[in-house]
Amino acid sequence: MALIVQKYGGSSVADAEKILNVASRVARAHDDGNQVVITISAMGNTTDELIELAGQVTGHPNPREMDALLSTGEMVSCTLMAMALRDMGYDAISLSGAQAGIHTDTSYGKARIAGIDPARVHQELDRGNIVIVAGFQGVTEDMDVTTLGRGGSDTTAVALAAGLGAARCEIYTDVDGIYTADPKLVPSARKMDEVGFEEMLELASYGAKMNPRSIEFGMYYNVPILVASSFSDNPGTIIHGGGDMEVNVGEIRNRVRGIATDTNVAKITIHGVTDRPGIAASLFQPLADADVSVDVIVQNASVRGTTDMTFTVNRTDLARALEVVEPIMRELGSGSYTSADNLAKISIVGTGMQDAPGYASRMFRALADGDINIDMITTSEIRITCLVDERQLADAANALHEAFQLDKPQEHAG
Ligand code: ASP
Ligand code: MG
Repeated sequence: MALIVQKYGGSSVADAEKILNVASRVARAHDDGNQVVITISAMGNTTDELIELAGQVTGHPNPREMDALLSTGEMVSCTLMAMALRDMGYDAISLSGAQAGIHTDTSYGKARIAGIDPARVHQELDRGNIVIVAGFQGVTEDMDVTTLGRGGSDTTAVALAAGLGAARCEIYTDVDGIYTADPKLVPSARKMDEVGFEEMLELASYGAKMNPRSIEFGMYYNVPILVASSFSDNPGTIIHGGGDMEVNVGEIRNRVRGIATDTNVAKITIHGVTDRPGIAASLFQPLADADVSVDVIVQNASVRGTTDMTFTVNRTDLARALEVVEPIMRELGSGSYTSADNLAKISIVGTGMQDAPGYASRMFRALADGDINIDMITTSEIRITCLVDERQLADAANALHEAFQLDKPQEHAG
């Protein structure tokens, strides 16, 4: 008998009818002879509504109370799911994160799972129950309820799969998998059959919707994650840690897995910075202290002892970043800065790129042929990123998707 862990997102349980639809899918997995554990998000926009409601009561919600409040959203969907399954004649029980043994640290709003005690879940499975665990929440040593951060139910699911020793974790959502590019920008974007954990992390942080921490969990505990639609029986995308199954040696196109795009980008340039030791530290430490994460950093070669320092931040952090920059500008020997918020990031991602040359030039050629100017360039082992004008992002994404033939089905090696 196999143990299956499934997760259903908020849009899959947005109303009573959808809850009944999910219940019959869960029942099917049980009828197939499996032990079934599921975790569910709050119905539809419940979490947003609860946050909004707290905001109407106070401008400064107490973090402990806020987590207790938000955890109720998942309790609603889980209890309703248990009722639906029982009504269909199945034995089913809902458990809060605490009851399911999900232990976390005390960082309210972004708690990290410290460990899972699977005893109660196993006990309920042995009694023949379908077990429904509230997503996105856990409990501290002091028995206070915590939440795992937005989209945290993905993490609950993968952690449960790891903690229970399931062969894999199945995540059901409102799209049929992970795409080679954002289908809103690139009409020929194609669902991938599979993608590596590391690749998925790069794609996730650029907008494909999966909670990055859940991917890290899957990678660490080597739990393959299936992402598929809760509204169809399409096969979905499997995220796994196995070697690159699709590399077809000699076929450059199979080594780029997908295109990631991001418009939450702004750029700051500080002009005429004195070139001496400690400059970068005295700029980036205060930004880190202000919780502004800095991404691409370029320092120009210095001319007569001064240099320009350019870096990018999230567009949503731009105002906060400038508040930090202004007072320390003089300390840096600089008299001025400029900022721009009309940029976007576009990346090609693929583990196969790391040991094969030629990807960067091929990317730049495709952008040049599309008359797209590159503002900045940055790379990691499995990613090449260019900053471009936001208005050219769709053109850039389509040009690269075509240049790397991502619209064609990938061929499997061997
Ligand atoms: N309900 C929570 C949220 O909306 C957690 C989740 O959906 O995974 O962020
Ligand atoms: Mg949600």
